[in-house]
Amino acid sequence: MPASPILRFAPSPDGFLHLGHAYSALMNQRLADRLGGTLLLRFEDIDPARCRPEHVDESLADLAWLGIRWQGPVWQQSTRLPAYAVALAKLDTMGLTYPCFCSRGDIARVVETRPDWPRDPDASPLYPGTCRHLTAGTRTAWQAAGRPHGRRIDMAAALSHQPHPLGWTEYRETPEATRVAADPALWGDALLARKDVATSYHIAVVVDDAAQAITDIVRGEDLFAATSLHRLLQALLRLPEPAYHHHRLIRDLSGNKLAKSRNSATLRSLRHAGTDVTAIWQSLEARRDET
Ligand code: GLU
Repeated sequence: MPASPILRFAPSPDGFLHLGHAYSALMNQRLADRLGGTLLLRFEDIDPARCRPEHVDESLADLAWLGIRWQGPVWQQSTRLPAYAVALAKLDTMGLTYPCFCSRGDIARVVETRPDWPRDPDASPLYPGTCRHLTAGTRTAWQAAGRPHGRRIDMAAALSHQPHPLGWTEYRETPEATRVAADPALWGDALLARKDVATSYHIAVVVDDAAQAITDIVRGEDLFAATSLHRLLQALLRLPEPAYHHHRLIRDLSGNKLAKSRNSATLRSLRHAGTDVTAIWQSLEARRDET
């Protein structure tokens, strides 16, 4: 029997939700309804410096106000760090990660003299591999001395461990599936655990999507490229492959992507102003029809 469809809406509570989140939640709800599936809610709050409980509370109120119907319990990634540590330890045992002691400044110093230095799909410079070349003795000594470090994937080793080409089933916003070839090498030796938080978005998202048995991932197209890395991690960790439905991003009147940093109208402010929810749905539906 095919698995019963399970979807999730997974905002990061590092600010108040805005219309872009409403659109993503709407896309999730519509697909869950169309597939006769279940919608779950997960707060991706691994970053203690940016995520606040008040954002979780207000987001719950916003989503209820919008009429999004999720089933409990609501997950919070900040409570799931041990599960991410298990996944990282597995990759480490496979010899596919290494500790990285570099600061952003260290990386910038290597890269700044080379204007043609390759960049990842988010436009960050690819990691120059400095700590990949440390001797085992130096790594052990620096770790024993308590020197702060994150962990990176050794992309070349990971790709040779996973020799079969990877891809995923992509629906965009249509019912027709296409198969997309994954290209995880675009991300280089990506960070899998940060210095300040013992995980990263990439590890947490693949571990939780598997733990919650998510079959269909509906999220913004800004995460399309990251799916290549997620597929690699899923394959290495032997996690199931979900289908992906990347949707377009809602833009403001000047064509900029809506972001918390640009002071986009928050759902909270619209809710407090007594805005008619039906009008919000209609305006989001209308934007769907724009190309
Ligand atoms: N937490 C991410 C965000 O708010 C979404 C992650 C995902 O859907 O995979 O942008």
